[in-house]
Parts: sequence; structure tokens; C-alpha cells
Amino acid sequence: MNPENDISSLKGIGEKSAALFHKVGVFSIRDLIEYFPASYIKYPEIRQVSEIRSEERAALRLKVLTEPKVAHVRGMSMLTFMAGDDTGSVKIAYFNMPYLKKNIRIGAEKIYYGIVKVRGTSYAIAQPKTYKEEEYSELTDVLSPVYPLTKGLTARTVTKAVAQAFSAAPSAKDYLDDNEREKLNLMPLHDSLYSMHFPTDKEEYLKARERVVFDEFYRFLISMRELKAENTRSRNDFPMIEVSEVSRLIESLPYRLTDAQKRTYDDIIRDMASDHAMNRLIEGDVGSGKTVVALLAMLTAVKNGHQAALMAPTEVLASQHMQKISRLLKNFDVNCVLLTGAMTEKQKKEARREIADGTADIIIGTHALITELVEYKDLALAVTDEQHRFGVRQRENLSSKAGKGEPHVLVISATPIPRTLAIILYGDLDISVMDEKPAKRLEIKNAVVGTDYRKKAYNFIRKEVKQGRQAYIICPLVEPTETGNGENVLEYSENLMEYWGNEVSVGTLHGRMKNSEKNEVMSRFASGETDVLVSTTVVEVGVDVPNATVMMIEDAQRFGLSQLHQLRGRIGRGEKQSYCIFVDTSGNKDASKRLEVLKKTNDGFEIASEDLKLRGPGDIFGIRQSGEMGFKVADIYTDALILKKASEFANDKDNIELNSDSDYSKKVTL
Ligand code: ADP
Ligand code: MG
Repeated sequence: MNPENDISSLKGIGEKSAALFHKVGVFSIRDLIEYFPASYIKYPEIRQVSEIRSEERAALRLKVLTEPKVAHVRGMSMLTFMAGDDTGSVKIAYFNMPYLKKNIRIGAEKIYYGIVKVRGTSYAIAQPKTYKEEEYSELTDVLSPVYPLTKGLTARTVTKAVAQAFSAAPSAKDYLDDNEREKLNLMPLHDSLYSMHFPTDKEEYLKARERVVFDEFYRFLISMRELKAENTRSRNDFPMIEVSEVSRLIESLPYRLTDAQKRTYDDIIRDMASDHAMNRLIEGDVGSGKTVVALLAMLTAVKNGHQAALMAPTEVLASQHMQKISRLLKNFDVNCVLLTGAMTEKQKKEARREIADGTADIIIGTHALITELVEYKDLALAVTDEQHRFGVRQRENLSSKAGKGEPHVLVISATPIPRTLAIILYGDLDISVMDEKPAKRLEIKNAVVGTDYRKKAYNFIRKEVKQGRQAYIICPLVEPTETGNGENVLEYSENLMEYWGNEVSVGTLHGRMKNSEKNEVMSRFASGETDVLVSTTVVEVGVDVPNATVMMIEDAQRFGLSQLHQLRGRIGRGEKQSYCIFVDTSGNKDASKRLEVLKKTNDGFEIASEDLKLRGPGDIFGIRQSGEMGFKVADIYTDALILKKASEFANDKDNIELNSDSDYSKKVTL
């Protein structure tokens, strides 16, 4: 079966499960194979009844001791019997499954797996799963996958579907031959994909992960190289001169530019006036004021008679850029046009018309900017904000959207990556580092606390709100999950509304909402109508509400330090003192120690390197990293060594195969 086939071609996946899979972004068999678990659990070893001390999840080898009885209680049927081993007995209960009765014979032995309740000296398990001896030993031999689930999609469905996908699709062809694999000390491709789902132990998982990470990096590097091959030597189709409007805009700003901002703008204007097209990365910590520098570049392009486009990774950020930029350019006779997927078909059509006929000067949007339907009259500058959030292909397309020639390219990133890594990742992009915070900012005050601090935090937030300020509360999950681990936005915000009543207004934001809803929630928060925003990490990217002075992060131990730092970057943007509260719900000393790094410093570069030291590769029971640069598994910090390996390998291979086989990515994945 072709891995590109729809998942509904697999046995046992009907329309309903297919729709659920679509919700989590799984459409083809290949998607399913790459739908990697978020973590793994190990089924417990079989124990004896006498070993159970308190309520716990356990597996027991039990013989049926009594005839099953069926009773009816409050509209439910309840089937019960006693089962036991040499050391004790347990009451087994099943609800609404009277048909099980005929299968239960005295003396039959099975493995019972479930939560054992202890009441005085007696034990009970409700709804245990049962296994034959061999079945259960297979389970204990491996780590069982825990998938990122959505409502209605059960772990069992996913596990079965994935197993199906592996038997239906041909085994992945490896682009590395035996020799190369041995040299690189990597697992075969197909084995690694399988072991990502069903590893026998942690070692195997780490080995499989290493291979998958290698592939992601390699694929990334190859496409960067192709990009480079297209971009190098490209002459300057849009030579530009400095314009007086830029100085006028700088003077009209409510603040003075930092030296780093000025330096970066100088780099940009020099590039755009030179013989070659600009290909520059602005790297600067959160809050260093990168947007306004991009705006100066765009104004330069427009006043040289061309168009400029700014692409952002989320609807929320695109709309915010649109608002702020149109306000700043009010008196500059510049027509700003927004284009995002959330707009109505009619609005989009109108925007596309203005882009095509040149009425639009500055075009701001999401990746709607690069769909085939959009045609630019005269695009001379393509800016990508928070570029580490996009896949490589998307970035490539904005610059290939040229009307009259190869546009200048400016990419912006807040990912504090060490320079050496940046060079590997971005190849010959020129880099401007903005290593200076705007003056007059107070350092954020940080606290790492346990769950017993929550009440205090809520009262503190209420006090800040009373003084006219706002707060973010971040939860890792959208809704309650099967395993019940971790705070979720939906329940959390409901509880808070109850707790605060009318005193504080609470908004809710998460990635599963429709884009138009997200925009609405965000603009209510930006305008101050909502006091507290309970959100997943969707607010992490670039959002700017200077009036927000508190951020409280639940389950902070589950995030990477760099990600926490990016989140914290949403506050401390105004002149008021800001506070960040990291709630460590693990009760684990090591976790708190890791979070203490954030207390010690507000410097993103320092944090990134500490993070690198403290986190192991692919922290097996942690939340998956934030998906930077569009990587599913790889993490540029902790996997820096694999990145080097992939980079060296790509260098060796260079010129041999690349040009003859440009669509390498297909071969790599399956
Ligand atoms: P980031 O670099 O994270 O994208 P932004 O460009 O969103 O940061 O800027 C953060 C905030 O700082 C904005 O509210 C912006 O208006 C403000 N800002 C930018 N430059 C300066 C400056 N030189 N002095 C004071 N405030 C500034
Ligand atoms: Mg920004």
C-alpha cells in the first residue's frame, strides 16, 4: 500500500475515526507513522496480592474463586466475583457487562490489570483489563506509547492504527547504505520509525530517536542548501536608497532606538543598496524590539516605490502586527493590507486584488501570503517574523513570490541559538544580533513555587488587576486527558471564573479554537477588556500586550527552559514592574532546581546554554519540545551533537547526489 494513501484505507478506520485523526493532523499512512508518542508508559511487573500496600495500579495473577453474581444497583448491573493467588484474594467488579458472566469459570487463571483499592484488609479492582500470560508479558517487554490525543480518539485506536500502518505500508527505504549507517552509528530507517512507537526499552527509544532526529536535521540542511544554491549569486533586482521618511518615523516613535536597533537597520540598508540581494537574519532576545527594525526596512522598500510583505506564524500575531504598524504609519501615506486564512472569502479576494494591482504597499499576513492565489505586483522585500516557527518550505516560498525580481529577504528569530549553531542551520544568511534591551525596562521578578502557593498567586493577580494591569496564566493542555496529568485551559479558566466571580474577567485561548475566535479573544485582551488570559503556549509567539505584568505558568517543569523564557517574554514589555510565577507541580527537587535557572537570569542566551547542560536528549517522560523550526522530534539545543553529525555528513555528500535528486525529503521519511 502506498504510504501517501488516506488512513481510511486501513482496516478498522472508518469515517468517524478518520475525522478524529484529521483533527490531530494525521491524513495519510505516512502521517500516522510519523505521529510519534508524546511519552511512554511501562506496564508493571506481575505482583502478589500480599505485596499491595495502598491504592495503586497493579498487575496480579489471579484464579477465579467464586461463581460470578450479577446484581442491579441504581439502574446499573454489577457483576462481581472473588479471585486470588496464594497470598490473598481480591473482589473483582464489572459494571454493565453482565455478558461476561458466561466466560468466568472457577479456577481459570488470568492477569488482572487495574487500580487496586484497599479497604481495611480487603482489596477490590473495578473494571480490570485481563490478559493471557503471554499477552501481558509482551506488554511488559516494551514501553507502551502514550499519544497526544484528542477527545474521542483513544490510545487503543491509535496504537492499533499505527500497528496496521506498519504492516500495510512497505518498509521504509533507507537513503543511507549499510556502510554509511555503520559509520554514523545509526539505526536503519524503518526500524527507527517502528521503535519510536514500540520501543522495548529506553535505550532502544533513544537510539531510534537519534535516527529520527538525524533525518529531520539532514532533511532541513539539504533544503537549506537547495535554497542557498538558488539564492547565492542572486544580484540585486531592487537596489534601494535611504529615504527621509525613515528618519521621520524614528522621530515620531515614543522611544529612542537602542544602539542594537540602529546597527541592525544600518546592516539592512547597506544590504539593500549593495550589488546582491539581502539575505539576513535578525536574531534578538524577546522584547529587544525587532518589529520596529523590520518596519523601517519595509518603509524603505515602499518609499523606494515597491511592495514589502511581513509573514507571521499565527493569525493572532499577524493581526497584531497589522494594528500596530497601521497605527505607526498613519501619517505616511502607506496602504497596509492584511491577508490571513481567518478572513472571509470576499475580504481575501479584495486583499489579493490590491496585492496584485499594486494598491497594497505593505502586506501583512500568515502563510496565506504564499498560497498560489496570491500574486504580487512588485514585491521587493519579504520579511518573516518568528521564522523558527515555520517549516523551511514555507519560508522559501515567500521569497519565491517575486513579481519583478528576486526580493530581499529578512528573517527574524527570537530563538537564542549559539552563533555556531546558527551558522550550521542558516548557512550563508548574514546575521545581525540584537543583544540589547530597550532602556527603562525593569527586570522581571521571578518565583518558583509549589501548588500550595496558588491561592496567594490568585490574590496577587487580583490585586494587580485592581490597579489596572493584566495577567497571563499558561496551562500545558487544552482539555482533560485520559491520563489526567497536567492542568488544562478549559477546566482551569472555569474554576478561576468561579473563584474570582465578577471581580476579574477571564478569557480563554488555545490552539484548537477557530482562527477568528482566537483573534477575538486576543484583541479583547489587548484592548484591556479581559483582565486575565488563560492560555496554552499559543501566546508564546511574539504577542505584545505591554499592560500585562503577571505571568503564571502551571506545570512549569514540563516545559523546556528556553520555551519558558519565550513565554516569559510576553511580560516585562512596559515600564511597570512585571512578575513571573513558575508553578512546579511535580514536587520533585531536580525539577525545581532546573527552574531556578530562570530565576537567576533573564538572559535568553544564558538560559539556552544552561538548558543544554541540564536536559538529557529527548527527555523521555517530558512534554515534547515546542516544535521549533518545524521539527517534530529534534531539538536544536539538546541534539546539537546530532546536528553536527548531520551537517558533516551533508557536507561530505554535497555535489554528489543533491542535484540529481532534489526531492530528498520524500526519500528520507519513508
Ligand atoms: P520582539 O523583539 O520580541 O519582537 P517587539 O518588537 O514586539 O519585541 O517590541 C517589544 C516592545 O518594546 C514593543 O511594545 C515596542 O513598542 C517596544 N520597543 C521597541 N523598541 C523600543 C525601544 N528602543 N525603547 C523602548 N521600547 C521599545
Ligand atoms: Mg516579535
